[in-house]
Amino acid sequence: MTELNYTCQKCGTCCHEIEFKKRIPLYPNEADILIEIAKKRGIAFKIIEDLVFPDILNNKILVVTYKIRLDNETHGCPFYDAKNGCTVHEVKPLACKAYPLALKQVDAFNFQISVDPLCNYVEGNYDLLKKADFAKIKEIFKNEYPNAQEHLKKNKKLMVKIKKLEYKNIIKISREILLDDFNKYLKEWDREEITIN
Ligand code: SF4
Ligand code: SF4
Repeated sequence: MTELNYTCQKCGTCCHEIEFKKRIPLYPNEADILIEIAKKRGIAFKIIEDLVFPDILNNKILVVTYKIRLDNETHGCPFYDAKNGCTVHEVKPLACKAYPLALKQVDAFNFQISVDPLCNYVEGNYDLLKKADFAKIKEIFKNEYPNAQEHLKKNKKLMVKIKKLEYKNIIKISREILLDDFNKYLKEWDREEITIN
């Protein structure tokens, strides 16, 4: 296989809406940091809920992650600058640090590391990357992989926390839910963030 070395093309595509997908997940603590920075800079910054679970015991929506609401005009992250790229580089969310590696949901409580095909570098090298095994992917994205691992680890801890709360009958997550009911709960129920230290 031809040697691949990932180099970000700094195209900024991943900081913008791609194919109508808003894909910048962030944990509540990351959201708090960015909200503070946005306040100081006078930037309009909003988040929307991303990964949520309905707790049918307490009539609550449990929020695990949010997503950055993209700017209406630029369709990009409000922290993206056309000239300088990311303006919160030091504190950007784990998902941004790990990209183009991302977490793919495999079932309700399990995620795995995957390569996002929407990245321009990935798209340009897709045929070669498709043939790469896991060890090779780790090598190609050597700087991003530890961040993706940290992202996955954090995600796993949060899923374990939810399962433990459920085991102790403190919450109950609905496994089967009709879309209409879910939408009703989203409108009516209070929110509770699920976080870990
Ligand atoms: S925080 Fe930075 S890297 Fe992440 S989407 Fe926004 S501009 Fe891009
Ligand atoms: S889409 Fe890929 S190549 Fe472009 S800035 Fe994002 S990570 Fe870099």
